[in-house]
Amino acid sequence: MDSKNTQQLELEQISKRLQDALTARTQLEYRYEQDVSQLSRFIAQLITAGQGLDGQLDGPLMKLRQQLQSKPDLDLLAPQLKQLTHNLQAFGLKLKQQLRDCYDISNEVTEYLRTKFSQQPQQRQQLRQLLDALDSPNLTLLHYVPILLSLLKLLQQLPVAKHKTAEAHAEDAGTTQTSMAADDIRQIRDELLNQLSMIEFPQASAADVNQLRQALLQTEQRDQLLQQCLAIIRIIVKNIHQERLSAQQFLLSLNDTLALVHAGLAEVDQSSQQHHQAQRQLSEQIQNDVQGMSNSVESATQLQDLKRDIQQHVSIIAQALQKKASLEQQQQQDMQRQLAQMQTRLQEVEHEADSYKKRLAEQKFKSLQDSLTRLPNRTAFEERLELEYKRWQRAKTPLALAVADIDHFKRINDNYGHIAGDKTLQVIANMLKKSLRETDFVCRYGGEEFVIIFPQTAIAEVTAVLNSTRERIKQIPFKFRQQDIRISISIGAAGFTRPQDDIAQVFERADKALYRAKRQGRDQVVIDAS
Ligand code: GH3
Ligand code: MG
Ligand code: MG
Repeated sequence: MDSKNTQQLELEQISKRLQDALTARTQLEYRYEQDVSQLSRFIAQLITAGQGLDGQLDGPLMKLRQQLQSKPDLDLLAPQLKQLTHNLQAFGLKLKQQLRDCYDISNEVTEYLRTKFSQQPQQRQQLRQLLDALDSPNLTLLHYVPILLSLLKLLQQLPVAKHKTAEAHAEDAGTTQTSMAADDIRQIRDELLNQLSMIEFPQASAADVNQLRQALLQTEQRDQLLQQCLAIIRIIVKNIHQERLSAQQFLLSLNDTLALVHAGLAEVDQSSQQHHQAQRQLSEQIQNDVQGMSNSVESATQLQDLKRDIQQHVSIIAQALQKKASLEQQQQQDMQRQLAQMQTRLQEVEHEADSYKKRLAEQKFKSLQDSLTRLPNRTAFEERLELEYKRWQRAKTPLALAVADIDHFKRINDNYGHIAGDKTLQVIANMLKKSLRETDFVCRYGGEEFVIIFPQTAIAEVTAVLNSTRERIKQIPFKFRQQDIRISISIGAAGFTRPQDDIAQVFERADKALYRAKRQGRDQVVIDAS
């Protein structure tokens, strides 16, 4: 009985364990099914999202998606999955290669465009930003789309030699009218600001121009920009007109003076003729009297009569001589008066000519000066570099060039406003001038870029002075809105070293070195080693 009971108990236990195992297995199967179904849905979603990435993968992946939706037998799917895994691996490799190609092509096109736009600060700035974007880690193919788009836009700006048809022109006009991009507006606006800083306006227009500059800095709309362009043109035309009027006035006054001098001379001539005639009459009278005296002497019989005759003649001669002397004195006085008159007028005109000359010299000086920073401007730089370049060619004395650019200057404008930006430019310009030697020539090339010419200096000698300048600028304690700000600059430098070097080539090398300084993290000096 006991053993029977024991057997019965064991059987029940085994049966329970079996039941438990069966329940556990059902649960496991259920969970497995749930997981597979979740994973299938996820894979289906992934396939939908990845549609269009690769034409060859699209078909098999869509087939897999359908199969996954109808509870497939995974064993049956295994060979298909194996093939797809292989294809996906190949696609990954292809993608990597395409990324590398995209990077290389973008870099090459950027370099090419840099040479084409080496004289245009706006485009150079844009290209520098693109290079920055290219340098960011973990770029995917999609990230290249806006970069390549920007490069294409820049390529479009290159002058095209081929002729366009009238239709194409009309089409162009239509599109630019309706879709002038915000980027283009900003670019034109910045170029306009650059150009404006190259002209010195007279005091009377300075306030208007300043107001326009401030307004321009905020401009985002095409119509606004056009209105501002018009306003600037109006101010320039008004100034040209005034300048012409003042030149005309000077010429008129010069003309008046010449007419006066001419009339004076005629008067002197006429009065001297009259004097001459009066003098001749007096001389004739004296001569007649002398002759009369001689006749009296010859025909005299009585000494008494002769004495009376002679006395009469002598008295007439004395009167004539007195008259002659007073006439002469008067003539002299007349001439002196007329000469003094002419001299005064000539002095006046001389004075006018002097002030005109001074104004012209000032204008010439101002047209070579940047009005914001008071540094020489780009025109002055070009004149000076031409001069130094000729000296280098002739005398073979060394010559070097540096391009400096403020780091992240846009942030100053964006965070603290354009007035703070302008002030920063002035302070940095002063420090540049102070830190460099008297003989070095520093100018504002445009925007927040400065160029330095080092006459009679080898490229090896400029590193130290540029680094100390960079350090001194970084030490300037700027304070905007209660915040302490440090601002750095990046510098690229190159020397005239090879006999065939020309200005454009050396500038290009210095600019490339500046790009390197920016790409290597900014706040540094890079010397061209090529
Ligand atoms: P990076 O370090 O790459 O040079 O960056 P960045 O911000 O300095 O360069 P970016 O080209 O993005 O910005 C330059 C800015 O300088 C844009 C332009 O509005 C501003 N700017 C140019 N001229 C003047 C000016 O006369 N006054 C002011 N306030 N800003 C100016
Ligand atoms: Mg710049
Ligand atoms: Mg900058």
